[in-house]
Amino acid sequence: MDKAKYIWMNGELIPWDEAKVHVLTHTLHYGNGAIEGTKAYKTVDGRCAIFKLKEHTQRLLNSSKMTLLNVPYTLEELNDAQVKLLQENELFDGAYIRPLVYLGYGIMGLYHKDAPVEVSISAWKWGAYLGEDGLKRGIRLKISSMTRPANTSGMGKAKAVANYLNSQMAKFEAVEAGYDEALLLDDQGYIAEASGACFFMVRDAVLISPPNDNSLESITQQTIIDLANDMGIKVVRRRITREEIYIADEAFLTGTAAEVTPVREVDARIIGSGSRGEITEKLQSAYFDVVAGKNPAYIQHLTYIN
Ligand code: PMP
Repeated sequence: MDKAKYIWMNGELIPWDEAKVHVLTHTLHYGNGAIEGTKAYKTVDGRCAIFKLKEHTQRLLNSSKMTLLNVPYTLEELNDAQVKLLQENELFDGAYIRPLVYLGYGIMGLYHKDAPVEVSISAWKWGAYLGEDGLKRGIRLKISSMTRPANTSGMGKAKAVANYLNSQMAKFEAVEAGYDEALLLDDQGYIAEASGACFFMVRDAVLISPPNDNSLESITQQTIIDLANDMGIKVVRRRITREEIYIADEAFLTGTAAEVTPVREVDARIIGSGSRGEITEKLQSAYFDVVAGKNPAYIQHLTYIN
């Protein structure tokens, strides 16, 4: 990975190679932590801006609350820390930002009330998550043998570290089977989300995405829905079954890292024309305009760092 100079740890900027934890760090053993994935882009005027910083930091605090992690910093402090981190690292061409709330060293055993809650924020240069080629030509999806855990267990709405075991198993299975990404069903057999992104499909010019009944409340999903509304594209949130996807006209994934990645194949069925669809391309292009500060209606969502 592309190292930066510093990592923010518990209020201080530490040299990248010195940002370490003890092997008895609670989260390493029991998996209770919360993360964010936030992105900064170089904008049209040459400055760099973090997209939807407030929303991401709020979700970090929400995820932490859900998983009983008492974060010792305010939203404003965490936002300032992210801005400062990018500035000090001179990441003015854009970066991926990874805040992490974790339980530190000092207490073992499952009852974590007295374990110290620690926070780190790292940032580095990271290219297209599903590849530049994927953004243009589309990717191949496999419906996973892993399902999202039922809402009766787990903390599906939290961007909890523990949730990524399930995602990791699904991703590995898909990639080993020759696909690019996994699509997970919920425990009822409806489409939930990909291992690290949300799912959209287009059928008869209507944009359809599942409700967040069993998926992360995705920030990019909301941006895409807003953009579709701006463009007069009809948007429907409803449950989707796998066979509907096979006959969709277009499909794509959204996420901060995945951005808007077209899907060209699902389980050996070619989707639409087998390449990036027309509506997908429009929304993808609109999304890149937004994060690059080219759409005045969305400038309010940009936090400039220089
Ligand atoms: N679902 C999962 C499981 C994810 O990890 C992500 C990436 N954060 C998403 C959906 C997309 O969320 P967002 O658009 O907020 O990045």
